[in-house]
Amino acid sequence: MEVKQIETIQEQTIMEMLSDMGHEQVVFCNDNATGLQAIIAVHNTVLGPALGGTRMWQYATDYEALVDALRLSRGMTYKAAVTGLNLGGGKAVIIGDAKKDKTEPFLRRFGKFVQSLNGKYITAEDVNMKTSDMEYIAMETKHVTGLPQFRGGSGDPSPVTAHGTYVGIKAMAKKAYGSESLEGKKIWVQGVGQVGMYLTEKLRKENAKVFISDIDQDKLKKVAASTGAEIFNGDGYGLDVDIYAPCALGATLNDDTVYKLNCDIVAGAANNQLKKELVHGRILVERGILYAPDFVINAGGLINVYLDHLGEYNKERSYSMAEKIYDNCLNAVNIAEEKGITPQEAAIAIGDQRIQSVGNVKLSY
Ligand code: NAD
Repeated sequence: MEVKQIETIQEQTIMEMLSDMGHEQVVFCNDNATGLQAIIAVHNTVLGPALGGTRMWQYATDYEALVDALRLSRGMTYKAAVTGLNLGGGKAVIIGDAKKDKTEPFLRRFGKFVQSLNGKYITAEDVNMKTSDMEYIAMETKHVTGLPQFRGGSGDPSPVTAHGTYVGIKAMAKKAYGSESLEGKKIWVQGVGQVGMYLTEKLRKENAKVFISDIDQDKLKKVAASTGAEIFNGDGYGLDVDIYAPCALGATLNDDTVYKLNCDIVAGAANNQLKKELVHGRILVERGILYAPDFVINAGGLINVYLDHLGEYNKERSYSMAEKIYDNCLNAVNIAEEKGITPQEAAIAIGDQRIQSVGNVKLSY
């Protein structure tokens, strides 16, 4: 499967976008009775059912919602492929105000749409969706994973995401400094939400010097007090650190930031860190900054829900599978170096290769 880079999609028609990004199916969902409007994007199901969370957002336009669903679902395909999971990539977006629009019938109607895909798409929690929302969705479809532990599910995946990110950072340190030790390393963790908080704990246990930033001052104070990390308020992009760990929003590697960065390594859990995959990924290479591809390093959460989906969840196994993220990150940066491409491109090529080769195996009787 050859997937083109997706930097210039603004001028494209919907079918051109699907063709360029390689999507299999997109479902537009509308229900006048409840006001539900949603898009379910199924990117690729060669390796298995398309798994990816549902996010709710007040998109400025339907087009913006569609682009988000397309990009996120494609990212899920590659995350599963490079991590060695038998899953495809999918994502759902619900267009609306998460504070006002969610009602029981609204969410259950969405569950019906998920069910109508008969397991080709499996949903989970994402931005602005709470556990209680997922429970309504699960009343109408069995294709939901990552439910809370009290419902027999695997619960919050963030600790495993943080663990995978931590071992990925160590792999990058090994590559850049010849040693995976993070003792004394200066690390900026941007965003101390669920993942950033657990990550900071791990880094501090190894005696790294951690600077934390967040727009939420209460969270900052709490994490600083419990871990001994130093609060940093201000523009962190010029901060003199060894490692920058983005754990807040996507697209923080953009025209305004990539030339300011004053670090050796970028390795963190946020999704879609590179605003433009090719352009900003290349600038990092030119600046000698080692980049751990986001969908490789942040796959711990997906591993967690994957085991849940198989009905084989166990915490130890989840953590032990997340340890492999160390090798997966090293593999991506080593291949990038060998081939003179960016780590992101290398990771996509690794994913493509697995999809193609396993796809061929599946064709045999
Ligand atoms: P979260 O919402 O719990 O935490 C995000 C934190 O970032 C919040 O504390 C928020 O206040 C802060 N933030 C927002 N804007 C900021 C800014 N401009 N500067 C600094 N901080 C800012 O989310 P999370 O679950 O910890 O996830 C963090 C990132 O990792 C997200 O990009 C998410 O998509 C990605 N991710 C999470 C998981 C997971 O298992 N939770 C898995 C894979 C990827």
